[in-house]
Amino acid sequence: MAELANASCAGEYDVAVIGLGPTGATLANLLALQGVRVLVLERDADIFALPRAVHFDAECMRVFQTIGLSSALLPDLFVGPGMKFIDADGNVLIDWPRPTCIGPLGWCAS
Ligand SMILES: Cc1cc2nc3c(=O)[nH]c(=O)nc-3n(C[C@H](O)[C@H](O)[C@H](O)COP(=O)(O)OP(=O)(O)OC[C@H]3O[C@@H](n4cnc5c(N)ncnc54)[C@H](O)[C@@H]3O)c2cc1C
Repeated sequence: MAELANASCAGEYDVAVIGLGPTGATLANLLALQGVRVLVLERDADIFALPRAVHFDAECMRVFQTIGLSSALLPDLFVGPGMKFIDADGNVLIDWPRPTCIGPLGWCAS
């Protein structure tokens, strides 16, 4: 990940990001890449323990690539052929196939 501004000792920041969820973490890294001094404030002591991002698309991967995370992520990723959303009775609500080839963004769609 991009090195965040030397927040612990600098004392002055350009931007305060409130919340170190995926949005805050990504934003902080993108800002730091631009030389912005970033302070991130998170109320929880640890990362949220339950999986909440089993899927992401090529645009997300481009952002991960930009902040230097794609190589670290790749070993744990596989290309998804699509997804089905089902209700509690197993009825298909949405059937969404996805192409498995590399797309125009340089990564797979799913
Ligand atoms: C079961 C489940 C499955 C999901 N699966 C996927 C998936 O496969 N793919 C996908 O893309 N998305 C998925 N999502 C959605 C994804 O998890 C959210 O879109 C994402 O977490 C949103 O990120 P965020 O940083 O905006 O908010 P959050 O993840 O909610 O993070 C906000 C952070 O801000 C902190 N915070 C809030 N208020 C304050 C405050 N006042 N001071 C300091 N800190 C504060 C919180 O503690 C938290 O850490 C899923 C969600 C759920 C619930």
